Amino acid sequence: MDEIRDVLVSGEFDAEQVRHLPIPESYRGAVVLRDDVNLFDGTPTENRDPAKSLTIWDIPTPEPGPGEALVAVMASSINYNTVWSAIFEPMPTFGFLKRYAKSVPSASGHNQPFHVLGSDMSGVVLKTGPGVHRWQAGDKVVAHCLSVELSSADGHDDSMLDPDQRIWGYETNYGGLAQLSLVKANQLMPKPAHLTWEEAACSGLVHSTAYRQLISRNGGQIKLGDVVLVWGAAGGLGSYATQLVLRAGAIPVCVVSSETKAELVRAQGAELIINRSAEGYRFWKDPETPDTTEWKRFGSRIRDLTGGDDPDVVFEHPGRETMGASVYVARRGGTIVTCASTSGYQHQYDNRYLWMALKRIIGTHFANYREAWEANRLIAKGAVHPTLSAVYGLHEVGAAARRVHENTHSGKVGVLCLAPRPGLGVDDPEFRARHIDQINRFRED
Ligand code: NAP
Repeated sequence: MDEIRDVLVSGEFDAEQVRHLPIPESYRGAVVLRDDVNLFDGTPTENRDPAKSLTIWDIPTPEPGPGEALVAVMASSINYNTVWSAIFEPMPTFGFLKRYAKSVPSASGHNQPFHVLGSDMSGVVLKTGPGVHRWQAGDKVVAHCLSVELSSADGHDDSMLDPDQRIWGYETNYGGLAQLSLVKANQLMPKPAHLTWEEAACSGLVHSTAYRQLISRNGGQIKLGDVVLVWGAAGGLGSYATQLVLRAGAIPVCVVSSETKAELVRAQGAELIINRSAEGYRFWKDPETPDTTEWKRFGSRIRDLTGGDDPDVVFEHPGRETMGASVYVARRGGTIVTCASTSGYQHQYDNRYLWMALKRIIGTHFANYREAWEANRLIAKGAVHPTLSAVYGLHEVGAAARRVHENTHSGKVGVLCLAPRPGLGVDDPEFRARHIDQINRFRED
């Protein structure tokens, strides 16, 4: 692995040289173990510490099959799905691996007593399996996390509709939080040349998701002048949603929970900001009873900020805690687009506010290859910037995931895999210099 690292860190290599690098029989990766799935029994979700279940393990190197690629991972990032996997909520991920191995014979190697996590990465292709023509050894890449079979007719208009659609590193094994990773070749995209490895690795999952949720015809299709309510506007998804809303010429109303986060979204260009902690919204009187007067207070606050407009689109992901308010505040004919339920997946809303005011709720999930590619292109063109705030080593992956679980981070938390230190991997320093303030906006150091 040292030889691979040395060649790739030098930045001076060609396809031939990389193709001849010896590939080790095993590599280091961040895993959860099947033996640990009962580790947190009896512990409430909020007290489950990802650092207790995430461990670094020696992984036997898989051989890339048809249509697959083995990638040397320079950097990765923590996504919330890493947190879910590590706290075994809402369920352990080993069932996904078992079903994948059973339903797709070529995936039998994914069913293991370990699960290598991670749904983002930047790196260099080491080896490709049969039938891969678009990519070759030595290509600098990032990966999106849609692993799809496409053997059913259902996925051929939109691959997210394929019954064999999975999230790499969450519902498949050999994810990105490791020195090597196994992907389908159609997950690969060119690495933006102006970014470091860790900056390039942090956007794929959340930015593609926000792109589909807001811009794509499969999501909210926001347009010039729309008012868009963005929950968690300085978080992983939200920090990209805010940029997309601004870039589309729409008006974000950004909800955050601290002045530090308010400053971050203000620096991105947002003007209408609600600090939910300072303003003390309590959307539930008790765990079963929504407080509709609080929905109304929240809606009035939005109108105060916008000069009387209600949101055309609500960017939803906190779930149970906020969904009732989101449905209430959306404008007549407006859209609530949801991709998650961090605070609970059994939602309650008053349906009268939905049907009488002709609103719609759209469910959306990650992105198809085309949407992920378009999102990556926006990063490469400097139209959207990574929101990396902190960087950890692979051996610190538990601490990194804990920060996301505890909501003490902003933007994205990066993890170095083969890259020995931050700051490496930039191939276009001139373009980078033009955007350096925006690239560094979320950095803590
Ligand atoms: P994140 O980085 O933790 O950001 C989430 C933000 O939501 C936080 O910054 C927080 O902002 C806000 N938040 C958390 N709890 C809240 C609550 N009870 N009420 C209001 N706001 C709350 O996580 P993320 O990467 O953005 O992911 C968010 C969720 O989306 C996770 O559940 C994740 O699994 C899911 N997700 C789904 C997909 C998909 O494809 N379906 C893709 C990406 C993520 P403040 O505290 O500042 O308000």
